[in-house]
Amino acid sequence: MPFTKLGLHPELVRGIRAMGFAEPTPIQAQAIPLAQKGLDLLGCAQTGSGKTAAFSLPILHRFLEHPRPGLRALIIVPTRELAAQVETTFRDLGRFTPIKVAIVIGGVGYQGQRQALAQGAQVLVATPGRLLDHLRQGTFRLDQVEFLVLDEADRMLDMGFLPDIREIIRRVPTKRQTMLFSATLVPEIERVAAFAMKDPQRIQISRPTSVAEGISQVVYPVAQNQKSEFLVTLLQATEINSGLVFCRTKHGADNVTRRLKDKGFSVGVLHADRTQGQRTDAMENFRKGRIKILVATDIAARGIDVKEISHVINYDVPRHPEDYVHRVGRTARAYGVGDAITLMALDEQPFLGAIERFVGIVFPRAVLPDFKYSAPPHLTPPRPKTFADMNWGRYRRRSRR
Ligand code: AMP
Repeated sequence: MPFTKLGLHPELVRGIRAMGFAEPTPIQAQAIPLAQKGLDLLGCAQTGSGKTAAFSLPILHRFLEHPRPGLRALIIVPTRELAAQVETTFRDLGRFTPIKVAIVIGGVGYQGQRQALAQGAQVLVATPGRLLDHLRQGTFRLDQVEFLVLDEADRMLDMGFLPDIREIIRRVPTKRQTMLFSATLVPEIERVAAFAMKDPQRIQISRPTSVAEGISQVVYPVAQNQKSEFLVTLLQATEINSGLVFCRTKHGADNVTRRLKDKGFSVGVLHADRTQGQRTDAMENFRKGRIKILVATDIAARGIDVKEISHVINYDVPRHPEDYVHRVGRTARAYGVGDAITLMALDEQPFLGAIERFVGIVFPRAVLPDFKYSAPPHLTPPRPKTFADMNWGRYRRRSRR
């Protein structure tokens, strides 16, 4: 289902597009229509499921449809880091709208936060302690709030914020819409739900993405200018029945294809500048096994329907997490086992981080023993900020190499 089916305001659809989201994640597809009906929601979903946009979009939509000044949405989150992420998501999705977002967190000065609120923010993202400080000092009031979101509620309880949350809720009008998200629905959460919400709709997302079980996913850190040489060594060292190599640009795809041909590989290429005839030939040759390697861009690869792809190689790290899932979804369909290999230059680390958050896995980093690296590869993933609560070990796959 595309985002356009959700009936969101056109300026939000523009914002969604600018973020590169093609389709709603499962939690978005379920939560947005219910939230738009004004219902309270109890969502069981982890970080990485896309829950932030699931609650941000209906809020922004209401504000665009029924504009009025005042602090209308309060998002309570357990940590400063999460607050910053949620604020960024609101700003990014709302970039084509006039809606203002403020943030209230501990560890920084009060004055800037007062100013941001005085300038007329409609959305406030806050951690409980600092929010209560402001409320007790009378800096601002919550009597105009229509939306209350409790994000990562289980973590807030673990951190002992329950009394603060109760006090905050007492300061918010009872006539409001409330959304609560939690990775687990333990009895304590049910009690908060009973206290904070009216007859909530329940949404349960079993896992955030659909990378099939059985796919081994691995990342090879390698300098950008060594990638084509690396790919050659990798292909020489790997038994590949049918491999799909993804490149970000048409130009890149052509270069890689030329390089592989020079090295004697049987290879075809698929991108938007090829004629329909050339594309059909490449597909047909690949399907019949006459060529073992097909180099493609994302757009061209959408329509590929070859059942037995043993390897997907991301020559570039996909810029959007869901492209990764689309690409990798092409292995393992027939064999039950497939390999997804990503070549990552140092400056692509942030894109990989977004993918790892999205699929809920930190991929193993690997080295290719026979390859002459120009600089030692960087093998330690950066410490993720919001992974502490990710316990999806059963989806983790170890490299078989
Ligand atoms: P969240 O669970 O809200 O922390 O989101 C996790 C990651 O998924 C973030 O990097 C988002 O930018 C990304 N994301 C959220 N919704 C979508 C979508 N519909 N398509 C692609 N990526 C998304």
